[in-house]
Amino acid sequence: MTNVTNCPNCQTQFIVTDEQLNQHNGKVRCGHCLHVFDAKEELVDVNAADAEVLDDTDLANVSDEHQAQASHAEEHENSQISEEASEIVSKALLKDSQANYFQTIDRQTERKTRLYKWLISSFAVLLLIAAVVQSIYFWRSDITIYYPKLKPLLTQACEKLSCSISLPKKIEFIIIDDSDMQEDADHEGLIHFSSTLINQAGFIQTYPNIELTLTDIEDKPKLRRIFTPKEYLPAHTDVASGLPAGAEIKVKLALTAQDEPVAGYRISVSY
Ligand SMILES: [Zn+2]
Repeated sequence: MTNVTNCPNCQTQFIVTDEQLNQHNGKVRCGHCLHVFDAKEELVDVNAADAEVLDDTDLANVSDEHQAQASHAEEHENSQISEEASEIVSKALLKDSQANYFQTIDRQTERKTRLYKWLISSFAVLLLIAAVVQSIYFWRSDITIYYPKLKPLLTQACEKLSCSISLPKKIEFIIIDDSDMQEDADHEGLIHFSSTLINQAGFIQTYPNIELTLTDIEDKPKLRRIFTPKEYLPAHTDVASGLPAGAEIKVKLALTAQDEPVAGYRISVSY
């Protein structure tokens, strides 16, 4: 059957083939007024002889134009799609890189925190060790009193630190007893003292200093002198070896009281 379509603009009728109707959804261009219309919608039931033949060129034009438009649209769409795709991809990459960045930061922070914690604990341990060492250093002499077995070790350590382990100095365990004062019969003003130094501790101690004070009738101090161990001990005594535990040492002192009326004296020990 012959199809005839009618240009709605100039009312010219054309014969259209099935092929033409199926192409481009039936869109055609009128050969007279160049109006583009839907040939399918404008189909009319008239005698085919009355209708003009639709110009192939016109149809081709429509087709080309449509194709061009279509391809342009497609290109546009494609470019849009590619733009969108690249946007999505770049967003994804950004997100990924951000995620990586944050992950890296997290890891760095974690590493820093761990390092910080390690430093603090190391520092604390060092402080503790320093405190212990300092205490041992400070109390080294006393430690040897209560832990005699540690003495060789401490002595060894002290040699390296160029310190010394002195003998204990517990003055409360040292007393002075049986003191006696006598004026020298041959030398005027020369006074002799004799006394006993006792170490009541159960360990060797450093020899103390002996302080002798001469007093007048009113018990006011007139003359005071401190005697070091080397001064009050016999010449060949090994002072460094210390005052043995429980030892009682006879001490003799001599003092010249120049023109001072001496009525009494006080004697004491100190370090
Ligand atoms: Zn027309």
